[in-house]
Amino acid sequence: MKAIRVSAAGGPEALRLEDVPEPTARAGEAVVKVDAAGLNYIDVYFRTGLYKTDLPFTPGLEAGGTVTAVGPNVTEVKVGDRVAYTGVPGAYAELAAVPAQRLVVLPAGVSTKQGAAAMLQGMTAHYLACTTYPLKAGDTCLVHAAAGGVGLLLCQMAKMRGARVIGTVSTEDKAKLARGAGADEVILYTQQDFEAEVKRLTGGRGLQVVYDSVGKTTWDKSLGCLAPRGLMVLYGQSSGPIGQIDPQILNAKGSLYLTRPSLFHYTATREELLQRAGEVLGWIRDGKLKMRMELEFPLKDAAEAHRALEGRRTTGKVLLVP
Ligand code: NDP
Repeated sequence: MKAIRVSAAGGPEALRLEDVPEPTARAGEAVVKVDAAGLNYIDVYFRTGLYKTDLPFTPGLEAGGTVTAVGPNVTEVKVGDRVAYTGVPGAYAELAAVPAQRLVVLPAGVSTKQGAAAMLQGMTAHYLACTTYPLKAGDTCLVHAAAGGVGLLLCQMAKMRGARVIGTVSTEDKAKLARGAGADEVILYTQQDFEAEVKRLTGGRGLQVVYDSVGKTTWDKSLGCLAPRGLMVLYGQSSGPIGQIDPQILNAKGSLYLTRPSLFHYTATREELLQRAGEVLGWIRDGKLKMRMELEFPLKDAAEAHRALEGRRTTGKVLLVP
């Protein structure tokens, strides 16, 4: 079968389409024929070597497709089930062997492509808005990169929970998309000082929570946007890592809280995975959560897809189709 392989960390050109042996289902595993793999920023971190893994490897942590085989002791799925999953490496491929515990059977009315698009970014937005800081009416939050994959979903979920949402984006076109996803205010953080704007928009009071996935270029000012005892949720580093932190900064900025969460720890048990995925997929089925599936690339063009994501040319979800 065909798969994208990385044999040395590097730029997008490190992603090469190769022939590899077809996987078989070992005990507890199912083989999934991949209809689409989701592109996520974490794929860039693994490709560049910012996040470490053994080489060579097949990237991709999210896919949707159909079960073609199950190994011994699999009770969660059967052959023919339409499924989606995240958190298991190797999705940039025609077939993937996945621990059945990580598979979610898709509800009727949700396509395998929607499933591929929803699992990682959708459940991330869900845990950020519902668990890390359970937003409520009266809260104001900041969502950086509000027109991105996670960003558009987080804006919608924050509004569903009754919060006021301030988004940041780099262009006017992205601002329109963020507003369409429910952002009450949108700041062009490439042109405006977003800290000063947040202070103005909150009458100097500041925010209950900042969701910061941009990292290096936003971290300092993000802290300055928070109300005393507010929560800084640093959940990514699209512009680069923030480096060392002196905890004293949290005191100086108003007894702030800081967390650096990962989806893995918010879907660690099968019960929590099914609960979180079930809610997100249910909202999609019911039309309450809109997925922007902007771009599809053939699997062989994975490098081009990475260039678009890193070049800030994408909005919403990008899929790779084998
Ligand atoms: P996005 O679709 O949000 O793409 C990244 C966006 O970041 C860009 O479109 C761009 O938006 C913004 N950005 C700002 N500065 C830069 C820069 N220097 N280079 C590139 N992009 C920049 O990606 P995802 O939705 O896949 O992921 C968003 C973030 O969330 C990532 O940092 C990712 O690692 C993180 N994440 C974390 C998870 C967790 O559990 N901790 C899980 C899922 C994602 P603009 O042009 O508007 O500035």
